[in-house]
Amino acid sequence: MHKIIAVIKVLFKTTAKKYPFFFVLKIFRMLVTTAMPFIALFISPLIVDEVVGDRDVKRLITLAALLIGLEMVFQLLNDLTTNYINRYSTRIERYFDILMSRHVMELDFQLTEDKEALEQIEKARTGMDWYSGGVNGISDQFFYFLSNLIKAAGFITVISVYAPILLAVMVVYTAVNSLFVLKRNKISIEAFAKLSKVNRLFGYFGWNIVDHRYAKDIRLYDAQGMMVNSWKENTAKSNSHWKWQGDKSFPLILASEYLDLGRSIFAYFYVALLAIRKVIGVGTFTQLISAETGLDNAIGGMIQNVTELIKRCNYAYEYVVFMDYPEALAKGNRPIEKKPHEIEFKHVSFAYPKTDRKVIDDVSIKIVPGEHLSIVGLNGAGKTTFIKLLCRLYDPTEGEILVDGIDIREYDYVSYMEQFAPVFQDFKLFAFSVKENIAFTDDTADTIALTDRVGLHDFVAGLDKGTDTNLFKFFDEEGVEPSGGEQQKIAIARALCKDAPVVILDEPTAALDPIAEYEIYKQFNSLVGGKSAFYISHRLSSCQFCDKIAVFSGGHIAEYGTHAELEKIPGGIYAEMFEAQAKYYKN
Ligand code: ADP
Repeated sequence: MHKIIAVIKVLFKTTAKKYPFFFVLKIFRMLVTTAMPFIALFISPLIVDEVVGDRDVKRLITLAALLIGLEMVFQLLNDLTTNYINRYSTRIERYFDILMSRHVMELDFQLTEDKEALEQIEKARTGMDWYSGGVNGISDQFFYFLSNLIKAAGFITVISVYAPILLAVMVVYTAVNSLFVLKRNKISIEAFAKLSKVNRLFGYFGWNIVDHRYAKDIRLYDAQGMMVNSWKENTAKSNSHWKWQGDKSFPLILASEYLDLGRSIFAYFYVALLAIRKVIGVGTFTQLISAETGLDNAIGGMIQNVTELIKRCNYAYEYVVFMDYPEALAKGNRPIEKKPHEIEFKHVSFAYPKTDRKVIDDVSIKIVPGEHLSIVGLNGAGKTTFIKLLCRLYDPTEGEILVDGIDIREYDYVSYMEQFAPVFQDFKLFAFSVKENIAFTDDTADTIALTDRVGLHDFVAGLDKGTDTNLFKFFDEEGVEPSGGEQQKIAIARALCKDAPVVILDEPTAALDPIAEYEIYKQFNSLVGGKSAFYISHRLSSCQFCDKIAVFSGGHIAEYGTHAELEKIPGGIYAEMFEAQAKYYKN
């Protein structure tokens, strides 16, 4: 129950704030559809009485015209409102998509590497999808329920006036039938729970696998066979769940139908008896039969609406959970200026959440403003993690990181992020223009000068629309597909454009050819200028451009000094790595 309340509260409130008219329309439509069956309920008996009584043609025509006219007007109102509601509903769906995407982008970074959080995002997306029908689907059930409730009250009133015994029978029938329906719903909810996992897998096949990023691997590793088999296996599983539900529900459906038949037969006999005994007229006879059928439908409808509401709210509840996902990092509010900083790690240790292994182990290091530090070490030594800690993507498990003498946890998070311009190994370019990829929202940025600086002059000169050319072909047939090296240069231009006091290059030249790499190195100091720079690289020749080198090994800083100093340490890690690479290049 708390899930239904939470979903209705959150979804309705969010929608009402942005699209209040949506609910005005829904309430209006509910009133119209609720009134509709009562038009016939009250006018038809008058027509019947007229036919078997006075047979006044004029009155008959008037009554028939009134009935048809009112039905037409109400139907028109219903259709028009539905049309408007449908238009709103698409807009509302998009609105919730945006809210969710924004929330995903604003999540604390570490949650984006957290399996549970990632699953929650997926569940929230599917939960607001066709599983629940989103705000429109859920509010439909809510208002249908209200409508059926009002209708039921109306029919009960009519029946209780002329045939209270019939009402009593209806109550008993409804109670017994509800038991069957509840049992069926339980089976259906159980089946849905079993099916939701299979459905998620179908979602994966349907959407992820056809994504072009998988295309190369699927073709070259001949993965179609495995995919199709897996698809078949899941189809079989899905079918067996449906069969299970069908087999279990069948006797209950049968029982309900026979019970319903019994109720109908009783109603006709009883009401006919009243008419034969002249307790009621023929008009009232038809009115009672309609009211009885109407009441049955309204009650059946209510049960179905509640079941649907529970089911849909259960799915949509994942959205509520996701939007309320707790922050992973505490955030301070101390302002920080965009200027060169002194950075100090003091006995910093770190283990990734839900793991015990310290991937950074008691690291202490001080970087003066404007210093260029090269970070080297074997794979898995902790270099990238060191940078993630500096950028506050994670907080240290022990120790502290000071910027200008103050613990970085005290700074305002957004301003702190403005201090860094990183190019990560797995940087991402977007399917927007070259310019937008570099400057994001900064219209005044001279992207031509920036692309020239990183060696993209020829690339940009070859584009029809220069830096306004779109990347990739997602949205634009004429979009370009830059090579790995070109992409990396665009990412470097983006970092330079941000003009942050600390530049971070995590293996920034891995995808560059040796000449381009040499160009970047040669220009490195002029590119980064007087800013502080952290430079992770496997190619040790780059270290010569840096002031200091920190050699990471097993989460520690094993060696620290200038190139000249480290090169001379006999049997040192750096000396050995440098020697090995130098040999390779000489050979
Ligand atoms: P490097 O950059 O030196 O190659 P990393 O800092 O990326 O090393 O990784 C250090 C260690 O932390 C590795 O053993 C790696 O497997 C582990 N690691 C990296 N990222 C995560 C993560 N998100 N969760 C758990 N362990 C991680």
